[in-house]
Amino acid sequence: MPELPEVETVRRGLAPVLEGGRIVHVTQRRPDLRFPLPPRFAARLTGRRISRLDRRAKYILARIEPQGAAGEEVLIMHLGMSGRFTIHGPEGKRLPGLFHHGMPGAERHDHIVFDMEDGTRIVYADHRRFGFMDLVAATDLETCAHLAGLGPEPLGNEFAAAILSGRLKGRRAPVKAALLDQRTVAGLGNIYVCEALWRAGISPNRSAASVAGPVRSERLAAAIRSVLLDAIAAGGSTLRDYAHTDGELGYFQHAFAVYDREGEACSKPGCGGTVKRIVQSGRSTFYCPRCQR
Ligand SMILES: [Zn+2]
Repeated sequence: MPELPEVETVRRGLAPVLEGGRIVHVTQRRPDLRFPLPPRFAARLTGRRISRLDRRAKYILARIEPQGAAGEEVLIMHLGMSGRFTIHGPEGKRLPGLFHHGMPGAERHDHIVFDMEDGTRIVYADHRRFGFMDLVAATDLETCAHLAGLGPEPLGNEFAAAILSGRLKGRRAPVKAALLDQRTVAGLGNIYVCEALWRAGISPNRSAASVAGPVRSERLAAAIRSVLLDAIAAGGSTLRDYAHTDGELGYFQHAFAVYDREGEACSKPGCGGTVKRIVQSGRSTFYCPRCQR
């Protein structure tokens, strides 16, 4: 399942072809993905120009310029468990990275196809269909059901130890569970919560409240940022059937320190501990009982 760094990797892969581009045709092969697509989805996007591609938590946000009677809108895209974009360029067009070239035939799981004015084709495929797309007025973005209530963006300027501390204070739940709660910090999933707690030397079993003090919250906030930035730098990880926009498998999973490493030696210098797996609220937690306190 793509987490924040993978989604950011996809955004960065799509930005060069979508930003500033005009959509000339939308092919919609189903009425729904995880949710029904909005009414007149293809018609509302046809002819519109994308001004910018942003990300909030695990949502990719394509800002659609106002046109005629339509004001600025935002195309919200979520990859779910298995959603993936591929970019197909017209012959001879130079595209960033290792994107596929040539126009493909329609594949069974190619649900949405965007054809851009410059001849680029962007295909969204999602065989499990947990992903979705929605189109909202830009003025409604922050209050729409997808984004309302999300906690601070961990890589945003507003994210700091004091903010994190305020959101952990007084909570008896394990810090692991509190971090998976999207109201605490937006966009963190199981893998990067495990990795961040290991980097911070904080046990996943601690209560959230006990991490709210200045020393631990500072360590944790810094660890969250660094683990996400390292993952983005590595191009995002690839687990199971997820691949990023260039169709190539990522490689960050080999760099996980504790995730999926049960029984292996802890890699923190001088620790000597062994990575353990426990189950917390139905999810596997990997951690080192020796250096995570
Ligand atoms: Zn250790």
